[in-house]
Amino acid sequence: MAGHRGLVGSAVVRRLEEEGFTDLLLAGREQLDLRDQAAVDYWFRANRPEYVYLVAGTVGGILPNSRRPADFIYDNLMIHATVVQAAHHFGVKKLLYLGSSCIYPREAPQPMTESNLLAGPLEPTNEAYAIAKIAGIKLCAAYKKQYGCNFISGMPTNLYGPNDNFDLETSHVLPALIRKFHEAKLRGEKSVTVWGTGSPKREFMHVEDLADCCLFLMRNYEGDSHVNIGTGEDISIREVAELVRDLVYPEGELVLDSTKPDGMPRKLLDVSLLHELGWQHRIGLREGIASTYEWLQEHYGAVEDGCRGSVAPTPLRRAGDRRRSV
Ligand code: GDP
Repeated sequence: MAGHRGLVGSAVVRRLEEEGFTDLLLAGREQLDLRDQAAVDYWFRANRPEYVYLVAGTVGGILPNSRRPADFIYDNLMIHATVVQAAHHFGVKKLLYLGSSCIYPREAPQPMTESNLLAGPLEPTNEAYAIAKIAGIKLCAAYKKQYGCNFISGMPTNLYGPNDNFDLETSHVLPALIRKFHEAKLRGEKSVTVWGTGSPKREFMHVEDLADCCLFLMRNYEGDSHVNIGTGEDISIREVAELVRDLVYPEGELVLDSTKPDGMPRKLLDVSLLHELGWQHRIGLREGIASTYEWLQEHYGAVEDGCRGSVAPTPLRRAGDRRRSV
Protein backbone atom coordinates (compact mmCIF):
# COMPACT_ATOMS: atom_id res chain seq x y z
CA MET A 1 0.00 0.00 0.00
CA ALA A 2 1.64 3.19 -1.16
CA GLY A 3 -0.12 6.20 0.36
CA HIS A 4 -1.98 4.73 3.35
CA ARG A 5 -2.40 7.98 5.29
CA GLY A 6 -4.18 9.92 2.58
CA LEU A 7 -7.87 10.18 1.81
CA VAL A 8 -7.76 7.22 -0.58
CA GLY A 9 -5.14 5.04 1.08
CA SER A 10 -6.76 5.21 4.51
CA ALA A 11 -10.12 4.22 2.99
CA VAL A 12 -8.56 1.28 1.12
CA VAL A 13 -6.87 0.12 4.36
CA ARG A 14 -10.22 0.27 6.22
CA ARG A 15 -11.91 -1.69 3.42
CA LEU A 16 -9.18 -4.35 3.33
CA GLU A 17 -9.39 -4.74 7.09
CA GLU A 18 -13.18 -5.09 6.87
CA GLU A 19 -12.61 -7.89 4.36
CA GLY A 20 -10.33 -9.66 6.83
CA PHE A 21 -6.90 -8.88 5.39
CA THR A 22 -4.51 -8.79 8.32
CA ASP A 23 -1.07 -8.51 6.79
CA LEU A 24 -1.03 -5.07 5.24
CA LEU A 25 2.34 -3.55 4.41
CA LEU A 26 2.31 0.18 4.99
CA ALA A 27 5.01 2.82 5.05
CA GLY A 28 4.93 6.41 6.25
CA ARG A 29 6.81 9.09 4.40
CA GLU A 30 9.25 9.47 7.28
CA GLN A 31 10.47 5.90 6.63
CA LEU A 32 10.47 5.86 2.87
CA ASP A 33 10.71 8.55 0.23
CA LEU A 34 8.84 7.05 -2.70
CA ARG A 35 10.68 9.34 -5.08
CA ASP A 36 13.93 7.53 -4.32
CA GLN A 37 14.36 4.39 -6.45
CA ALA A 38 17.10 2.89 -4.28
CA ALA A 39 15.00 3.32 -1.15
CA VAL A 40 11.91 1.89 -2.83
CA ASP A 41 13.91 -1.10 -4.14
CA TYR A 42 15.28 -1.70 -0.66
CA TRP A 43 11.78 -1.63 0.77
CA PHE A 44 10.41 -4.03 -1.85
CA ARG A 45 13.35 -6.41 -1.32
CA ALA A 46 12.79 -6.41 2.42
CA ASN A 47 8.98 -6.65 2.38
CA ARG A 48 8.09 -8.52 -0.83
CA PRO A 49 4.54 -7.26 -1.35
CA GLU A 50 2.34 -9.43 -3.55
CA TYR A 51 -0.42 -6.93 -4.37
CA VAL A 52 0.26 -3.21 -4.58
CA TYR A 53 -2.21 -0.35 -4.33
CA LEU A 54 -0.33 2.62 -5.77
CA VAL A 55 -2.43 5.45 -4.37
CA ALA A 56 0.35 7.76 -3.14
CA GLY A 57 1.05 11.14 -4.62
CA THR A 58 1.33 14.87 -4.21
CA VAL A 59 -2.24 16.04 -4.57
CA GLY A 60 -4.29 19.16 -3.99
CA GLY A 61 -7.00 21.46 -5.25
CA ILE A 62 -6.97 24.03 -7.98
CA LEU A 63 -4.67 26.58 -6.28
CA PRO A 64 -1.68 24.41 -5.30
CA ASN A 65 -1.96 22.64 -8.66
CA SER A 66 -1.59 25.90 -10.52
CA ARG A 67 0.98 27.46 -8.16
CA ARG A 68 3.31 24.49 -7.59
CA PRO A 69 3.45 22.70 -10.96
CA ALA A 70 7.08 21.61 -10.43
CA ASP A 71 6.26 19.74 -7.20
CA PHE A 72 3.18 18.18 -8.73
CA ILE A 73 4.92 16.89 -11.84
CA TYR A 74 8.22 15.84 -10.23
CA ASP A 75 6.85 14.10 -7.14
CA ASN A 76 4.18 12.19 -9.01
CA LEU A 77 6.36 11.18 -11.96
CA MET A 78 9.00 9.86 -9.60
CA ILE A 79 6.58 8.06 -7.25
CA HIS A 80 4.88 6.28 -10.13
CA ALA A 81 8.15 5.36 -11.82
CA THR A 82 9.92 3.99 -8.74
CA VAL A 83 6.98 1.91 -7.50
CA VAL A 84 6.08 0.48 -10.91
CA GLN A 85 9.72 -0.41 -11.64
CA ALA A 86 10.16 -2.04 -8.21
CA ALA A 87 6.86 -3.91 -8.57
CA HIS A 88 8.14 -5.36 -11.85
CA HIS A 89 11.63 -6.09 -10.54
CA PHE A 90 10.40 -7.84 -7.39
CA GLY A 91 7.66 -9.85 -9.10
CA VAL A 92 4.52 -8.25 -7.67
CA LYS A 93 1.47 -10.34 -8.65
CA LYS A 94 -0.78 -7.39 -9.35
CA LEU A 95 -0.63 -3.61 -9.08
CA LEU A 96 -3.50 -1.14 -9.15
CA TYR A 97 -2.50 2.41 -9.99
CA LEU A 98 -4.90 5.29 -9.43
CA GLY A 99 -4.84 8.35 -11.67
CA SER A 100 -7.39 11.13 -11.89
CA SER A 101 -10.16 12.40 -14.15
CA CYS A 102 -8.00 15.48 -14.89
CA ILE A 103 -6.03 13.37 -17.40
CA TYR A 104 -8.64 14.13 -20.06
CA PRO A 105 -8.46 17.10 -22.46
CA ARG A 106 -10.08 20.36 -21.39
CA GLU A 107 -12.44 20.26 -24.37
CA ALA A 108 -13.16 16.51 -24.18
CA PRO A 109 -16.74 15.57 -25.09
CA GLN A 110 -18.80 14.93 -21.96
CA PRO A 111 -19.10 12.40 -20.46
CA MET A 112 -15.44 11.47 -21.03
CA THR A 113 -14.69 7.94 -22.15
CA GLU A 114 -11.41 6.09 -21.67
CA SER A 115 -10.62 6.64 -25.38
CA ASN A 116 -10.57 10.45 -24.91
CA LEU A 117 -7.10 10.18 -23.38
CA LEU A 118 -4.52 12.29 -25.30
CA ALA A 119 -7.12 13.54 -27.76
CA GLY A 120 -6.43 17.23 -27.10
CA PRO A 121 -4.77 19.90 -24.91
CA LEU A 122 -5.15 19.69 -21.12
CA GLU A 123 -6.70 22.13 -18.63
CA PRO A 124 -3.85 24.57 -17.77
CA THR A 125 -4.59 24.79 -14.00
CA ASN A 126 -3.66 21.14 -13.51
CA GLU A 127 -1.59 20.31 -16.57
CA ALA A 128 1.57 19.34 -14.64
CA TYR A 129 -0.34 16.92 -12.40
CA ALA A 130 -2.26 15.52 -15.37
CA ILE A 131 0.93 14.88 -17.37
CA ALA A 132 2.38 12.93 -14.43
CA LYS A 133 -0.86 10.95 -14.06
CA ILE A 134 -0.92 10.17 -17.79
CA ALA A 135 2.68 9.01 -17.53
CA GLY A 136 1.56 6.67 -14.73
CA ILE A 137 -1.06 5.07 -16.98
CA LYS A 138 1.45 4.67 -19.78
CA LEU A 139 4.03 3.22 -17.37
CA CYS A 140 1.62 0.50 -16.24
CA ALA A 141 0.61 -0.21 -19.85
CA ALA A 142 4.24 -0.35 -21.01
CA TYR A 143 5.28 -2.80 -18.27
CA LYS A 144 2.24 -4.88 -19.11
CA LYS A 145 3.11 -4.90 -22.81
CA GLN A 146 6.85 -5.45 -22.53
CA TYR A 147 7.07 -7.70 -19.46
CA GLY A 148 3.54 -9.08 -19.12
CA CYS A 149 3.10 -7.46 -15.68
CA ASN A 150 -0.43 -7.55 -14.29
CA PHE A 151 -0.59 -3.79 -13.73
CA ILE A 152 -3.93 -2.00 -14.11
CA SER A 153 -5.06 1.62 -13.81
CA GLY A 154 -8.21 3.26 -12.45
CA MET A 155 -9.12 6.93 -13.00
CA PRO A 156 -11.29 8.21 -10.16
CA THR A 157 -13.39 11.33 -10.34
CA ASN A 158 -13.25 14.06 -7.61
CA LEU A 159 -13.22 12.26 -4.26
CA TYR A 160 -14.20 13.29 -0.75
CA GLY A 161 -14.73 11.72 2.66
CA PRO A 162 -13.05 11.10 6.03
CA ASN A 163 -9.33 11.98 6.30
CA ASP A 164 -9.61 14.47 3.48
CA ASN A 165 -7.43 17.57 3.33
CA PHE A 166 -9.56 20.35 4.88
CA ASP A 167 -6.94 23.07 4.49
CA LEU A 168 -8.71 26.04 2.91
CA GLU A 169 -5.86 26.97 0.55
CA THR A 170 -4.82 23.54 -0.68
CA SER A 171 -7.91 21.33 -0.47
CA HIS A 172 -10.45 20.41 -3.11
CA VAL A 173 -13.80 22.10 -3.25
CA LEU A 174 -16.00 19.81 -1.14
CA PRO A 175 -13.92 19.65 2.04
CA ALA A 176 -13.29 23.40 1.71
CA LEU A 177 -16.99 24.16 1.49
CA ILE A 178 -17.92 21.86 4.38
CA ARG A 179 -15.31 23.54 6.57
CA LYS A 180 -16.20 27.08 5.45
CA PHE A 181 -19.91 26.64 6.24
CA HIS A 182 -19.07 24.95 9.56
CA GLU A 183 -16.78 27.80 10.60
CA ALA A 184 -19.26 30.46 9.45
CA LYS A 185 -21.86 28.76 11.67
CA LEU A 186 -19.47 28.59 14.64
CA ARG A 187 -18.48 32.24 14.25
CA GLY A 188 -21.98 33.48 13.51
CA GLU A 189 -20.87 34.84 10.14
CA LYS A 190 -23.51 35.38 7.50
CA SER A 191 -21.76 34.57 4.26
CA VAL A 192 -19.37 31.98 2.82
CA THR A 193 -17.06 32.59 -0.14
CA VAL A 194 -17.26 30.17 -3.04
CA TRP A 195 -14.42 30.45 -5.57
CA GLY A 196 -14.99 31.09 -9.24
CA THR A 197 -18.27 31.66 -11.04
CA GLY A 198 -20.08 28.65 -9.54
CA SER A 199 -20.91 27.39 -13.02
CA PRO A 200 -18.27 24.63 -13.52
CA LYS A 201 -19.68 21.17 -13.02
CA ARG A 202 -18.01 18.38 -11.10
CA GLU A 203 -18.73 14.73 -10.36
CA PHE A 204 -18.11 13.66 -6.75
CA MET A 205 -17.58 10.19 -5.32
CA HIS A 206 -17.35 9.17 -1.68
CA VAL A 207 -13.98 7.60 -0.94
CA GLU A 208 -15.59 4.50 0.61
CA ASP A 209 -17.18 3.75 -2.76
CA LEU A 210 -13.77 4.24 -4.37
CA ALA A 211 -12.12 1.86 -1.88
CA ASP A 212 -14.76 -0.77 -2.64
CA CYS A 213 -14.11 -0.27 -6.35
CA CYS A 214 -10.35 -0.66 -5.86
CA LEU A 215 -10.82 -4.09 -4.29
CA PHE A 216 -13.28 -4.99 -7.05
CA LEU A 217 -10.80 -4.07 -9.79
CA MET A 218 -7.93 -5.81 -8.00
CA ARG A 219 -10.02 -8.99 -7.96
CA ASN A 220 -11.82 -8.77 -11.28
CA TYR A 221 -10.04 -6.66 -13.89
CA GLU A 222 -7.03 -7.48 -16.03
CA GLY A 223 -7.78 -5.46 -19.17
CA ASP A 224 -5.41 -3.21 -21.08
CA SER A 225 -7.41 0.01 -20.84
CA HIS A 226 -7.48 2.22 -17.77
CA VAL A 227 -10.95 2.27 -16.16
CA ASN A 228 -12.94 5.39 -15.28
CA ILE A 229 -14.25 5.33 -11.69
CA GLY A 230 -17.14 7.66 -11.02
CA THR A 231 -20.84 7.98 -10.40
CA GLY A 232 -21.79 9.16 -13.90
CA GLU A 233 -23.61 12.20 -12.42
CA ASP A 234 -22.38 15.75 -12.01
CA ILE A 235 -23.56 18.95 -10.35
CA SER A 236 -22.56 22.63 -10.62
CA ILE A 237 -20.28 24.18 -7.99
CA ARG A 238 -23.11 26.54 -7.06
CA GLU A 239 -25.49 23.60 -6.56
CA VAL A 240 -22.98 21.66 -4.49
CA ALA A 241 -22.35 24.76 -2.36
CA GLU A 242 -26.11 25.05 -1.80
CA LEU A 243 -26.29 21.39 -0.83
CA VAL A 244 -23.48 21.83 1.71
CA ARG A 245 -25.14 24.99 3.03
CA ASP A 246 -28.48 23.17 3.50
CA LEU A 247 -26.78 20.35 5.42
CA VAL A 248 -24.34 22.42 7.50
CA TYR A 249 -25.65 25.97 7.93
CA PRO A 250 -28.99 26.69 6.22
CA GLU A 251 -28.88 30.36 7.28
CA GLY A 252 -25.56 30.90 5.42
CA GLU A 253 -25.33 32.88 2.19
CA LEU A 254 -23.07 32.17 -0.80
CA VAL A 255 -20.78 34.87 -2.15
CA LEU A 256 -18.94 34.10 -5.38
CA ASP A 257 -15.30 35.19 -5.68
CA SER A 258 -14.66 35.42 -9.40
CA THR A 259 -10.99 36.35 -8.88
CA LYS A 260 -10.39 32.65 -8.22
CA PRO A 261 -10.07 30.23 -11.17
CA ASP A 262 -12.89 28.00 -12.44
CA GLY A 263 -10.65 25.31 -13.94
CA MET A 264 -12.26 22.74 -16.23
CA PRO A 265 -15.80 23.76 -17.24
CA ARG A 266 -16.97 20.18 -16.84
CA LYS A 267 -15.34 16.88 -15.86
CA LEU A 268 -17.87 14.05 -16.03
CA LEU A 269 -16.66 10.49 -16.50
CA ASP A 270 -18.35 7.96 -18.73
CA VAL A 271 -18.55 4.94 -16.44
CA SER A 272 -20.02 2.44 -18.94
CA LEU A 273 -16.93 0.21 -18.81
CA LEU A 274 -17.05 0.04 -15.00
CA HIS A 275 -20.79 -0.72 -15.04
CA GLU A 276 -20.25 -3.43 -17.67
CA LEU A 277 -17.62 -4.97 -15.42
CA GLY A 278 -20.32 -5.16 -12.74
CA TRP A 279 -19.55 -2.37 -10.27
CA GLN A 280 -21.69 0.66 -9.32
CA HIS A 281 -21.33 3.29 -6.60
CA ARG A 282 -23.71 3.21 -3.62
CA ILE A 283 -23.28 6.40 -1.58
CA GLY A 284 -25.40 9.35 -2.73
CA LEU A 285 -23.95 12.87 -2.57
CA ARG A 286 -26.28 14.21 0.15
CA GLU A 287 -25.65 11.18 2.37
CA GLY A 288 -21.91 11.33 1.68
CA ILE A 289 -21.63 15.03 2.52
CA ALA A 290 -23.67 14.54 5.71
CA SER A 291 -21.40 11.73 6.96
CA THR A 292 -18.25 13.65 5.99
CA TYR A 293 -19.57 16.63 7.94
CA GLU A 294 -20.07 14.35 10.96
CA TRP A 295 -16.45 13.23 10.57
CA LEU A 296 -15.27 16.83 10.41
CA GLN A 297 -17.16 17.73 13.58
CA GLU A 298 -15.58 14.79 15.42
CA HIS A 299 -12.07 15.70 14.19
CA TYR A 300 -12.40 19.45 14.06
CA GLY A 301 -9.69 20.08 16.65
CA ALA A 302 -7.10 18.22 14.58
CA VAL A 303 -8.28 19.79 11.33
CA GLU A 304 -8.04 23.25 12.88
CA ASP A 305 -4.47 22.47 14.01
CA GLY A 306 -3.63 21.50 10.44
CA CYS A 307 -3.01 17.79 11.11
CA ARG A 308 -4.53 17.06 7.73
CA GLY A 309 -3.86 19.46 4.96
CA SER A 310 -0.53 18.22 3.75
CA VAL A 311 0.10 18.21 0.04
CA ALA A 312 3.50 16.57 0.26
CA PRO A 313 4.00 12.99 -0.97
CA THR A 314 2.17 10.37 1.04
CA PRO A 315 4.42 7.35 0.91
CA LEU A 316 4.85 3.73 1.90
CA ARG A 317 6.41 1.69 4.66
CA ARG A 318 6.57 2.13 8.41
CA ALA A 319 9.26 -0.18 9.84
CA GLY A 320 7.59 -2.69 12.13
CA ASP A 321 4.17 -1.63 10.90
CA ARG A 322 3.48 -4.85 9.12
CA ARG A 323 -0.19 -5.44 8.86
CA ARG A 324 -0.17 -7.72 5.81
CA SER A 325 0.68 -7.82 2.18
CA VAL A 326 -2.06 -6.48 -0.03
P1 GDP B 1 -10.53 20.82 -9.77
O1 GDP B 1 -11.67 19.84 -9.83
O2 GDP B 1 -9.22 20.23 -10.19
O3 GDP B 1 -10.83 22.09 -10.52
O4 GDP B 1 -10.25 21.19 -8.23
P2 GDP B 1 -11.07 21.84 -7.01
O5 GDP B 1 -11.86 20.80 -6.30
O6 GDP B 1 -10.04 22.58 -6.20
O7 GDP B 1 -12.05 22.93 -7.63
C1 GDP B 1 -13.25 22.60 -8.27
C2 GDP B 1 -14.06 23.85 -8.54
O8 GDP B 1 -14.62 24.35 -7.31
C3 GDP B 1 -13.29 25.02 -9.17
O9 GDP B 1 -14.13 25.64 -10.13
C4 GDP B 1 -13.07 25.94 -7.96
O10 GDP B 1 -12.89 27.30 -8.34
C5 GDP B 1 -14.39 25.74 -7.22
N1 GDP B 1 -14.38 26.14 -5.80
C6 GDP B 1 -15.33 26.92 -5.19
N2 GDP B 1 -15.01 27.15 -3.92
C7 GDP B 1 -13.85 26.48 -3.68
C8 GDP B 1 -13.02 26.35 -2.53
O11 GDP B 1 -13.29 26.89 -1.45
N3 GDP B 1 -11.90 25.56 -2.66
C9 GDP B 1 -11.59 24.94 -3.84
N4 GDP B 1 -10.49 24.16 -3.89
N5 GDP B 1 -12.34 25.08 -4.95
C10 GDP B 1 -13.45 25.84 -4.89
